[in-house]
Amino acid sequence: MSKVLILPGDGIGKEIVNQALKVINYLNQYQALEMELVHGLIGGSAYDKTGNPLPDKTIDDAKQCDSILLGAVGGYKWESLARELRPEKGLLGIRSQMDLFANIRPAILYSTLADSSTLKKEIVAGLDIIIVRELVAGIYFGKPRGIKQDNNQRYGFNTATYSESEIRRIGHSAFKIARLRNKNVCSVDKANVLEVCELWREVMTEVAKDYPDVKLSHMYVDNAAMQLVRQPKQFDVIVTSNLFGDILSDCAAMLTGSIGMLPSASINEDGFGMYEPIHGAAPDIAGKDIANPLATILSVAMMLRYSLNNSLLADKIEKAVEDVLEQGYRTKDIATSKDKIIGTNEMGDLVVESLKSNQ
Ligand code: NAD
Repeated sequence: MSKVLILPGDGIGKEIVNQALKVINYLNQYQALEMELVHGLIGGSAYDKTGNPLPDKTIDDAKQCDSILLGAVGGYKWESLARELRPEKGLLGIRSQMDLFANIRPAILYSTLADSSTLKKEIVAGLDIIIVRELVAGIYFGKPRGIKQDNNQRYGFNTATYSESEIRRIGHSAFKIARLRNKNVCSVDKANVLEVCELWREVMTEVAKDYPDVKLSHMYVDNAAMQLVRQPKQFDVIVTSNLFGDILSDCAAMLTGSIGMLPSASINEDGFGMYEPIHGAAPDIAGKDIANPLATILSVAMMLRYSLNNSLLADKIEKAVEDVLEQGYRTKDIATSKDKIIGTNEMGDLVVESLKSNQ
């Protein structure tokens, strides 16, 4: 029996998590999944109910669970709140309190979706790369930070810091993942300009000595951004810092046609993971039954594979998603003129139907 904390969050969060719950409920009932669900609050909806975007109860519940399934947080409604009360603070808080330092973001292009990419088919067809992003340190957390008044004008400042141990552990995560794949790690930095990246490069090179079977290369982040759209299939595993990973993984996501398709995992040293789609709360489409729920459904598959040791059911979910796409069903974000456009709810139902027929 595994115990999973469900945090729908804000915006489209509830709609897309509801589709993932349909899948979990089906697997619980018919495929002996035995997943116990605990429901909790995070983000703007948590702030509205408790005055805190990350209530203590959410952290307490997380500590009693094996994993978290998260929708997304954020929205216009909370943008004028003090920074520490904003929804995003809840997300950053749970990542750092559970020490979820390794963010694993696959960018896979299903062959049926090759037309949805903005790049030429031959550049992206068969794409299968993983970006391993450091998630709990770097410039998003470094101090000092703030905006100050000096000489009659305001200065904004943040601090990019990485300790040797923070770099080392994310390096090990990337090399271990590469070992299960094509054994290539590309470490992305800006070592020509930033000292923090100079250390990043040195430590990655040291970590590589423990993995003689894996090839390490280094690339500056500006070049990596260019190479991702020029020749993305040259990569296998990219490992990078919090800020660079944030940007590059969204860029990689677009190669696949929609950020609505991509799951992610954030894992700590004990294997506890938080699983979530890579996109945000999409307030512009919330409540319209048009959000793509597949990234969230695929996040359940990642959870089964990486934290709950159930690759069999993970494969079944991925196959069910692939089958629905093959039948030509698409939410609006991934549709071309010849596809059957369906809503969020129907997509969830179809994935369950597909699971049933593949039993
Ligand atoms: P976003 O990912 O929410 O949306 C970007 C664009 O992609 C929008 O046009 C949106 O409609 C579309 N989109 C996103 N998910 C989709 C889906 N499943 N199906 C179809 N289309 C989808 O990013 P944003 O607009 O920059 O941010 C909106 C809010 O979300 C902000 O408050 C931001 O802080 C927050 N955010 C949260 C997370 C998270 O919870 N992990 C991540 C990024 C942004």
